[in-house]
Amino acid sequence: MNCFRLALTLLLAAGTAMAQTPASAPAGNASPTRPSATKSFDLSAIDKTADPCTDFYQYACGNWMKSNPIPSDQTRWVRSFSTVAERNRYLLWQELDAAAKDPKTPLEKQYGDFYAACMNTDLVEQKGITPLDPALKHIADLSDPHQIGQLIGELAATGAPSSLFYFGVGQDDKDSTKQIAQIAQGGLSLPDRDYYLVDNPHFAEIRKQYVDHVTKMFTLAGDTPDQAAKEAAMVMDIEIALAKASMSRTDLRNPDNTYHIFTVDDFEKLAPDFDFGVYFKDVRIRHFDSLEVATPDFFKALNGLIASMPLNSWKSYLRWHVIHGTASDLPKAFFDENFAFFGKTLAGQKEPQPRWKQCTSMTDRALGEAVGQDWVKQNFPPAAKASMDKLVAALEKALGDDIRTLPWMSDETKKAAEEKLAMFRNKIGYPEHWRSYAALRVERGDLIGNVERSSVFERDWDLDHLGKPVDEKEWGMTPPTVNAYYDPSMNDINFPAGILQPPFFDFKIDPAVNFGGIGVVIGHEMTHGFDDQGSKYDGKGNLREWQTADDRKAFTERTDCEANEYSGFEAAPAHDNVPAQNLNGKLTLGENTADNGGLRIAYMALLDTLAAEGKSIDEKIDGYTEAQRYFIGFAQVWCQNQTEQEGRQRALTDQHSPGHWRVDGTVQNFDEFGKAFGCTKSQPMYPVKSCRVW
Ligand SMILES: [Zn+2]
Repeated sequence: MNCFRLALTLLLAAGTAMAQTPASAPAGNASPTRPSATKSFDLSAIDKTADPCTDFYQYACGNWMKSNPIPSDQTRWVRSFSTVAERNRYLLWQELDAAAKDPKTPLEKQYGDFYAACMNTDLVEQKGITPLDPALKHIADLSDPHQIGQLIGELAATGAPSSLFYFGVGQDDKDSTKQIAQIAQGGLSLPDRDYYLVDNPHFAEIRKQYVDHVTKMFTLAGDTPDQAAKEAAMVMDIEIALAKASMSRTDLRNPDNTYHIFTVDDFEKLAPDFDFGVYFKDVRIRHFDSLEVATPDFFKALNGLIASMPLNSWKSYLRWHVIHGTASDLPKAFFDENFAFFGKTLAGQKEPQPRWKQCTSMTDRALGEAVGQDWVKQNFPPAAKASMDKLVAALEKALGDDIRTLPWMSDETKKAAEEKLAMFRNKIGYPEHWRSYAALRVERGDLIGNVERSSVFERDWDLDHLGKPVDEKEWGMTPPTVNAYYDPSMNDINFPAGILQPPFFDFKIDPAVNFGGIGVVIGHEMTHGFDDQGSKYDGKGNLREWQTADDRKAFTERTDCEANEYSGFEAAPAHDNVPAQNLNGKLTLGENTADNGGLRIAYMALLDTLAAEGKSIDEKIDGYTEAQRYFIGFAQVWCQNQTEQEGRQRALTDQHSPGHWRVDGTVQNFDEFGKAFGCTKSQPMYPVKSCRVW
């Protein structure tokens, strides 16, 4: 996997699903209650007053949306993901709570203590911000901007939040057998560079609120209001300068823009005023001669800033990132102020999640493969894996058939595509070998210490990959995660145990609903191997063109059609002085392509499966044909409500479209939908012209 580029996921980014998915239990600190399972096919969710041929999402989800407001501790509530994630988290919580009270094994003691340290808010209050003293003192002692490299290295070595860039080890994009050092831009606090740069009243207001927030946090840390306001302005100056030097998310998606191999010497010449030599020593990476630099211009600009920004600005900036990076682990006053801006103002969340949810997610992030071992024993029966193997095989066959019958692709390229497909690997459920956490010291009375040691432990683990053979069995998500991903360098599709349950995957339901649920999920991940980004990699995971020039041109015409189509979809409405915001069709292109491909090939796999069982797609259950149940099952995965703020933020940062367009965007590109619902050609969901890539 590449260290800075996000894996191609079903939802959100890899590894963050547990952290960010919403919750259903009562907010505040009410005791946890077990969420009930979500039905795979829900007649009561359907809005029969809506016309499926005009707005299928409204038809399949309308009643659900009306009767499922966003819980107060959430910014988004998705019928499938959120409810399953809440259930998984609850089951994980039971395990953690029991381990914290009465651990039976050394592993239980380790994660039980980690969870308990997070839950001990009395101790957190007692300690105040003293756990940050060493880092803050270190920053206060900085006397020369040329020592910033060393300082950031030393902060990183202790696990204190440091900023400015991402550094890690990943597969060389052009030689996937090699694991090399990789470095990329970073250092911003707001969700995207647009928040710093777009010139309109909406973003101007957010910038003002952000500076106020930084001021308040500095005040809480002990500064006078005047001093705090000055520092906040300096933080903003540096972050705006970094934002200007940053590549856009859309450009970052294209691996051709980010593949730059530098010798260490040449890289150091890009930013001579930042002592990378010392930084690399501080983070204890083994010696290396060359590295992949995703964003050379950013590092050039960073170098200019080191010389041009005053020393005090740098100190304020670094100090801010230490406080900001630990804000949710600090006493309530810091936590609340952090929530007020990042939760309420930016995302529209009414209340923070109860502590047990936060601590469960935090433990899953830090010790995922430790807690996951016990979790899968309880929650993932071996029979589930066998059924998944069968479904994946059915989808692989359907994608092969799809490739062979594509009207626009030459035989030569079809052959290459089939070769790539034949080389797909799939991983289902959980790792064959579990990571050892023996080297991670956990102390029951030291929340921030645990978080810092965990961050060092994770980096050591990551950097230790340098120069070693690639381990195909490693996972990028923890077992209870409700998500899935495709990794272009590995050319593998990955389905954690967390997603392999209703409403995605249900032993007891008719095949149409299963293919509309987990079938489309599998098809989605497979199509990622052939979207605008994934298609640049061959079957061995190397960035190499395998399409003929004519086919690449035809491919790009088709992806352009989808990019334009989705750019026409509104993500958030205009109101007051806030302009309407449309989706960014280029940012979401890979995901939209995967959604469209997934819907088509899962349908083909369903037809095959029904034919093999001697059943017809027109057979009715509950008044709906199997074809209709397939599309409704698919749509009901995506029923959702989200705050307007969340919608706006995601339109800039999320590579996935919101549920409404994941449903209406795909069905209107697939004629089988219009036929299944008896629509008339030229109705919105059955248009005369539509887009198709795969
Ligand atoms: Zn995806």
